Amino acid sequence: MQTLEVDELIIGAGLTGLMYGNVAVAPDYRVALAESHFKPGGYATNFRRLKNRVAFDCSQHKITGVGPNGNLRNALVRAGLWDKLRFEYFNELATVLHRGKAYHFPATGPEIEAFLLREFPHEAAGIRHFHLDINTHGRQNYMFARMMLGEYALDKELLPESRALSKLTTKEYFRQRFRDDALIEILSSLAIYLGAIAHEANAFYFLHYLYAAFETRPAYVRGTSQSLSDTLAREFARRGGQLTVRNPVLGIETHEGRIVAVTTQKCRFLTTKVTATCAPAVVMSLLPAPQAAEYASFQHKLSQLEEGWGHISLYLVTDRPPAELGLTEAEYLLVHDAGDDLPASEWHTDARYEKLTLSATNYHQLDPQSGMVVQLTILDHDGRWFCLTKAEYKAEKERVQNLLLERAYRYFPALRGHITYVEASTPRTNFRYTNSPKGSAFGYKVLPRDNMRFLSRPPVDGLRFVGGWGTGPGYETGLCLGFTHAFLERQRRTAPVPV
Ligand SMILES: Cc1cc2nc3c(=O)[nH]c(=O)nc-3n(C[C@H](O)[C@H](O)[C@H](O)COP(=O)(O)OP(=O)(O)OC[C@H]3O[C@@H](n4cnc5c(N)ncnc54)[C@H](O)[C@@H]3O)c2cc1C
Repeated sequence: MQTLEVDELIIGAGLTGLMYGNVAVAPDYRVALAESHFKPGGYATNFRRLKNRVAFDCSQHKITGVGPNGNLRNALVRAGLWDKLRFEYFNELATVLHRGKAYHFPATGPEIEAFLLREFPHEAAGIRHFHLDINTHGRQNYMFARMMLGEYALDKELLPESRALSKLTTKEYFRQRFRDDALIEILSSLAIYLGAIAHEANAFYFLHYLYAAFETRPAYVRGTSQSLSDTLAREFARRGGQLTVRNPVLGIETHEGRIVAVTTQKCRFLTTKVTATCAPAVVMSLLPAPQAAEYASFQHKLSQLEEGWGHISLYLVTDRPPAELGLTEAEYLLVHDAGDDLPASEWHTDARYEKLTLSATNYHQLDPQSGMVVQLTILDHDGRWFCLTKAEYKAEKERVQNLLLERAYRYFPALRGHITYVEASTPRTNFRYTNSPKGSAFGYKVLPRDNMRFLSRPPVDGLRFVGGWGTGPGYETGLCLGFTHAFLERQRRTAPVPV
């Protein structure tokens, strides 16, 4: 097996790893990126079907932070990547369908506030307070990325209330602010963009997402998210980085508590630094077994965290533009009349396919070159997906696919009879392609009271976890964390040594 010496090895060529690599690599600093899948991107990939005539996006709905005040834009500019990408801005955030009514959320915060005030004038005080919370607590949480860079001064006066918000679920928070169930449910449905549900996600965290979504101009890239990942991968290689795909990391060697080498399927890297962007639990399993036992405390804390939701997606092709079949907007959120509260007793029943928010995205409208593509997505957990035989799995996938299609037909009856291709993915598919424990697509759940700070202190010298597992998911999150960590590391490396 070939042995290569590098200054740093990154595990995982998702957006976090790709951004980290682009910023870390330098003529005097050798960086390698090992990816287990056959192409870069992680969740930001696509796949093609029907002799390449259609392209399905594995994740892209909204990329936040792309407006002039967005952290993502700032990071891309500083990383020298902004002018290599082209973003298209949305005219509308989403259309929420609830109890027979369509709520068209505009694309910017002030417009959204005005729209909510028009729709729910009896909730005016709560709506104003809500927007203030987004622009204070939500903004401050969003700005943590810049605070790490020393570019944002914390408003300490906000902290006590922010802490209180982090102890509430989003649903509890909404119930404090509003009385109207319809308003609570349509706002709660936006949690799907965080891979979360409102009666679990902590309110402080959710407000940060709303700041990003309402105030920093969400956008999308044409050519699916794969074009974003491919651009970053190409640029990493051009800057001298070494990316290997189909190359899972199989083991990490340590000596006296310090990393010394990493074995991958294709080669052995001699290195003292590893930046891991995949699940921390996966990385812990790659460390030598006798040592892993010594890390009992870290492992114990890790075991206390709850893997986030996975999802089911249906990838559909229609025989005519989806707009002619009733999907006249780019994205719909289909919300159950009674909202998305799912009691524990219903977790493992089909109720989850009826009650959790289902998104329906008309990708043809965003990018006609993708083909006449509609995708339906709903959150789901590992449930029984992992223990079914191949035949059972196929049958169950088809059964759930039909349940979700029937639900979509209730909102878009003209769709029936016009779908020419259907394919489904499940949490088991996620695991297969990204190695995420339990097929989680969104890192660990950001619940009230959970403390994930210990993830910044891994139990081995030279190891670092970077990415959404400890902070929550998102393109912006992953790309900004990748940028910030690599940027700070580079500053430390190049700082003059004090004499
Ligand atoms: C259906 C869906 C829709 C989404 N929509 C949006 C959206 O609209 N907007 C948004 O901002 N976010 C969205 N997200 C979330 C977003 O896609 C992710 O948070 C983000 O892509 C994560 O990037 P990452 O690099 O941190 O992790 P990942 O993409 O998970 O990358 C980790 C990489 O590590 C690799 N890996 C794992 N183990 C090993 C190993 N042992 N050796 C080598 N490589 C390994 C994996 O193959 C993977 O490529 C969505 C996610 C899903 C699933």
